[in-house]
Amino acid sequence: MGRLAVVRICRGRRLATSNRQLATFMRSPEDYISKRAQGVDASGIRKVFDLAVKMKDPINFSIGQPDYDVPEAVKIAAIDAIRAGNNRYTQTQGIAPLRERLRKEMSRELGRDVGEMLITSAVSGGLLLAIMATVDFGDEAILIEPYFVMYKHLMTLVGGKAVPVESYPDFRFHADRIEKAITPRTKLLILNSPNNPTGAVMSEAEVRAATDLARQHNLLIISDEIYEPFLYDSNGPLFSPGKLYENTVVLRGFSKSHAMTGWRVGYACGPEAIISQMTKLQQYTFVCSPAPFQYAAVNAAIDLPTTQAREDYRRKRDRVYDALSKKFEVEKPGGAFYIFPKAPKGMTGTQFVAKAIENNVLVIPGNVFSERDTHFRISYATTDAKIAQGCEILCRLVP
Ligand code: PLP
Repeated sequence: MGRLAVVRICRGRRLATSNRQLATFMRSPEDYISKRAQGVDASGIRKVFDLAVKMKDPINFSIGQPDYDVPEAVKIAAIDAIRAGNNRYTQTQGIAPLRERLRKEMSRELGRDVGEMLITSAVSGGLLLAIMATVDFGDEAILIEPYFVMYKHLMTLVGGKAVPVESYPDFRFHADRIEKAITPRTKLLILNSPNNPTGAVMSEAEVRAATDLARQHNLLIISDEIYEPFLYDSNGPLFSPGKLYENTVVLRGFSKSHAMTGWRVGYACGPEAIISQMTKLQQYTFVCSPAPFQYAAVNAAIDLPTTQAREDYRRKRDRVYDALSKKFEVEKPGGAFYIFPKAPKGMTGTQFVAKAIENNVLVIPGNVFSERDTHFRISYATTDAKIAQGCEILCRLVP
């Protein structure tokens, strides 16, 4: 009998057996942890936040959310919804007015009726549901590396395999590299444009190359478009793979566009068969996105232009890029609010981040988003004064 089987029998009790050691065995809390949870390593991000706790008033370039607050009109709409009694479960798929409005908007943008929308517990919720609905044990998903860290861990959680394909040094979409990584088990191609952590935005030609590849190899595309309002080299809209390829699950949300990261409202559209499975899974996991915030999204957020935020962050992008490109090897980002410079010669990303932290600037090492430790991520969603101060310090640290 295996150790675990014995433990199961004697769970929490002393047993009179001849083997004293086994007889007194009790499960420690760690013994309850699943292999699934153990397979997820959160140490990279945790180390950074542990360091941040010890810093006094750091120049914080690590925050992955806008530096402005939820717009007043959206707050009022949420308060009104709470006062009006919209505090209960909604339909799992989300409230009808929000779904209908988003269906109209997305259909107009993608040039076809996108079908039923699912309101998710922000984009993280949509990602988990899309991956749970499609990935079987051993199925593979191609991620463009560096990647938003959640993709890899969600694949691990469902028993799938994340297959990172490098986009260094230019962070462009390299169809030839991706094609080489496709195997008979490849089911998903996960795209994220504008990208976290590089800020890269896929051009129309790159999106065409991605959808051609997906069609050729029967891949489902999951397109994480959470930073879609933050485009700096065009006035949008984003050229989504959903425009060209119906086997695309598009995920968007209000977290970044309206600074609603704590409110958990996102949405998904895609093939009916997949959206309906995601809806079923939402019923047994998130249940629904929070009711008052769904009302705030449809009664206020959706009609608020995001042009001012886009202009502000475009200016910040230019300032950061102009300052850092004098000293660092760095690509000019086209969107989101991140930039991903290479650490100075002779230093790993982690070594440079340690130096930056010693000098009170908090940045994230690139190996949190990558198998490589060569770069670091800056979020410039902060004040112009902090940007100037922080960039000045980082440039000074280059030998
Ligand atoms: N996708 C990307 C690329 C992100 O950067 C983030 C958050 O940082 C998310 C998804 C999750 O966002 P949400 O707050 O909508 O769950």
